[in-house]
Amino acid sequence: MEADLAKDNRKSQIANHKSRPTGAREDGWGEGGTVNIQTGCEHDCRYCYARHDAVHRWHRCTRTAWAEPVIDAGRVDQEYPRFKGRVMFPSTHDITMRNASECLVVLRKLLEAGNEVLIVSKPSMNVTALLVEALKRWQHHVAFRFTIGSASDNVLSFWEPGAPNFENRIKSLSCAYYEGYCTSVSCEPYLDEFAPDVYQACCAYLSRPPFDRGAGGFWIGKLRRWDSRVDLSGATDEQIEQYVEPLRAAQGDEFIRAMVGHLSGRPFIRWKDSIREVIEKPPQRISATDAVPSFSREDTEENGLREIDKGID
Ligand code: SF4
Repeated sequence: MEADLAKDNRKSQIANHKSRPTGAREDGWGEGGTVNIQTGCEHDCRYCYARHDAVHRWHRCTRTAWAEPVIDAGRVDQEYPRFKGRVMFPSTHDITMRNASECLVVLRKLLEAGNEVLIVSKPSMNVTALLVEALKRWQHHVAFRFTIGSASDNVLSFWEPGAPNFENRIKSLSCAYYEGYCTSVSCEPYLDEFAPDVYQACCAYLSRPPFDRGAGGFWIGKLRRWDSRVDLSGATDEQIEQYVEPLRAAQGDEFIRAMVGHLSGRPFIRWKDSIREVIEKPPQRISATDAVPSFSREDTEENGLREIDKGID
């Protein structure tokens, strides 16, 4: 495992020389590296890049076995070094009641070695309560980043069938915040056209600089590599129409530019590389007759499409 980590770090350093870091290595994420202790994840998200790699690239498990995770005892038992930069834990699975004890063993080792740790999770309250209590001694070296891609439980349960619901995630965020931990949110991938609704729900529980120690923010990013990674097996025509097609539309450049216009300048907003790539492209001309997206489920459902000013060049 140490050899793997060293290799990962070398690869990342080489990559860092060539280009701006992206994904897990992006500034404010796991600049020092990532640590994981199992293959598989019971959340079984339809867009999971880790499953794609484990099943199709490295042939570590079958598609069916992915949702029945297997803990690697060697990764729990080994010692961990002090990494150069914040360590993300985990990045290819989640922390659940099933693996919480083993995750806590590794988290303590990372913290005892002097690391700053970013815990990334689609959290449930029972796991969050356990973590905030068990890690109190190191709380100024721990930051939580909770993934919340939609405020709709229907949307979440389609895309992330085994993961906690919206209320559970918001309660976890507020719990970590009020317990004095650094908190932030990843709305990556956003799972519908209403990322601003998630932002509104989270704002009160996000750490502000300088208390966020560079690990704060509300990060928004696209679902990447859709054609190779997204698993729509078992989805009905109705679900495709309800959850897949609207997300496809919300990933278009024009929608993204409008969303950026709507949210830019607000506190905490951080754009992931997938969004920056779009906004750094030269702008397209917008027709005066183009529809303007609505960013609030309430606006769409109760008031119809909202008319907002848009820039027309
Ligand atoms: S929680 Fe993360 S690792 Fe687990 S299935 Fe979902 S995307 Fe994959």
